[in-house]
Amino acid sequence: MPSVCVAYKKCGGCQYTGVPYPEQLEMKQKNEEALLGRFGRVERILGMRYPCFYRNKVTAAFGKDKKGNIICGTYQEGTHYIVQVEKCLIEDEKCQEIIRTIKSLLKGFKMEPFNEDTGKGLLRHVLVRRGIKTGEIMVVLVLGTHIFPSGNNFVKELIKRHPEISTVVVNINERKTSMVLGEREKISYGKGYITDELCGCRFRISPSSFYQINPAQTEVLYNKAVEFAGLTGKESVIDAYCGIGTIGMVAAKHAKNVIGVELNYAAVRDARINAKENKIENIEFFRGDAGDFMMKMAAGKEKADVVFMDPPRAGSTEEFLTAVKTLGPKKVVYVSCNPATLARDLEFITKNGYEVKKIQPVDMFPFTDHCETVVLLTAKEKKPFEKKTYDKKGFDKKPQSRKTDYRKKR
Ligand code: SAH
Repeated sequence: MPSVCVAYKKCGGCQYTGVPYPEQLEMKQKNEEALLGRFGRVERILGMRYPCFYRNKVTAAFGKDKKGNIICGTYQEGTHYIVQVEKCLIEDEKCQEIIRTIKSLLKGFKMEPFNEDTGKGLLRHVLVRRGIKTGEIMVVLVLGTHIFPSGNNFVKELIKRHPEISTVVVNINERKTSMVLGEREKISYGKGYITDELCGCRFRISPSSFYQINPAQTEVLYNKAVEFAGLTGKESVIDAYCGIGTIGMVAAKHAKNVIGVELNYAAVRDARINAKENKIENIEFFRGDAGDFMMKMAAGKEKADVVFMDPPRAGSTEEFLTAVKTLGPKKVVYVSCNPATLARDLEFITKNGYEVKKIQPVDMFPFTDHCETVVLLTAKEKKPFEKKTYDKKGFDKKPQSRKTDYRKKR
């Protein structure tokens, strides 16, 4: 395992730098137990065999230091101060190499980093994403203005240096915002998206679509989620907060039908194409707010046997969870990237008809204090109202149990 990172104190991305990996797992286990232990037994966290260079998506901010030299790296936590990162221990090495090449090319092409205060300059961010199984690479150049002088030549030179790049997209972000991507984009080279493989399915990924950043552990996570659902081929399934349809498509092979719901337009478009390309016909995707969608399903008296839900870090909403209660699936599989909001949502849902059966932490983000969790919830059994009948002497006619039914013993 590589030695300690030099930028970690300023970068703030890796809270567990310098902590041996088994100890990191122990700390995460304890944290999960502290937050979730009151809902049931927390299974042993599933860690990685080689926990380095796992991030398949690398984003670098561009700017200048006090001496006017071009720098690139990550924003120091909570600020817009760029911490120069020469080599990161958790990001994919090929993605980092491409970013270093881009930085080295800027001067020759007279490309200035964008200055947020003056609104002058060009390059704001570079995002590089690699399909680990397919080897396909996407480079997104985020510009602060829509004019890209000598853009074609720049992209040509980049491809010459890195023929392994599959596509280059130019994204325009003219707003004063901390969001990396703007809404407008133009394909400069290739198809404008990459594909990758997970759990035997191929997925198309657009620049703005969410895609899990640690593919090896994503397979562990998805397999656990599908195992928890215990599908037999007869179930109607909902995949809420479905992104590009990954969990739903893995589940579709074991279910009667799946409905996916997602807010992001590009992700839903990717999800529909992904289903077609994988020849999965028992799945449908809808764009919209997951809470609204679930409330409409519940009001329309639709049925679902299993609900997978994988909300962002902020967690789900009371509207969504109330609609789950009305819809009444037998199982809910909650995939969470934030145990604090997970605990809040479990608190609500366990008071509203469900009980926690399993809690499985999965380490998707080694060296950071983040942890992913899969939770299986099942609908609490409603005790049917028992109508009692009595014999002439006033005894309950129904024998109670072998041990207590004294009349039988006589
Ligand atoms: N299950 C997917 C995506 C999980 S990330 C996967 O494993 O890849 C969470 C997703 O929820 C993102 O794609 C995000 O765009 C989406 N999202 C965020 N808020 C939402 C909302 N209110 N309704 C529906 N989807 C939402």
